[in-house]
Amino acid sequence: MKPTKRGPVPRVLEEHGERWSASCVRKKAENPNYRIQWTKHGGVPVNRLLLPPLEAMTQSHCSYCDGYPLDDIAYPTIDHFLPKGQYPELTYNWNNLYLACPRCQNEKETRFDLRIQREEYQGELLRPDEPNYKFERYFLFNYKNGHIEPNPRASEAERRRAKFTIDKLGLNDGGRPRSRKRTIVCFARSEQRLDAIDVWPYRFILTQ
Ligand SMILES: [Zn+2]
Repeated sequence: MKPTKRGPVPRVLEEHGERWSASCVRKKAENPNYRIQWTKHGGVPVNRLLLPPLEAMTQSHCSYCDGYPLDDIAYPTIDHFLPKGQYPELTYNWNNLYLACPRCQNEKETRFDLRIQREEYQGELLRPDEPNYKFERYFLFNYKNGHIEPNPRASEAERRRAKFTIDKLGLNDGGRPRSRKRTIVCFARSEQRLDAIDVWPYRFILTQ
């Protein structure tokens, strides 16, 4: 997860976001099984309108695993940090939206624990745009096995958040560690032009 800065609220959300979210809340209250879908604005699904400002925020990388390019695997998706099914009032809240690869989004969705209260969840899972977030403050990259680990020098609370984030996003599962190791090797063999870093995935380990 690479630190990023969030741009200003897109106009479409500034103008309509609250009303659209309120409508999601109403529909959910009427029918708890209602599945929230992106609404349309001027005939265009709103997620299409929000992709460009979200892509600008992460240079089109996944906000969580920093995977790139996203459309190699599937169309990039927009993740609701606090899931819209449980928090319909945040469906169109700009600060709740992140560009994500389908895999991170699925991992996060399936591991979302309803028993964890919102405040706690918000305080545990790391966000790439939260103040003072830095990869190396919370994590270490293990060059031997490609794993991301909590930084042993971090405070207890920081280590707990790091572990929670690794677990909830499945950052060390499947082929992800191998994929990071492969990237490191390719990067080392290349000309290592850091000015072109955005074309590489996992930028947080390459710039350490
Ligand atoms: Zn991802």
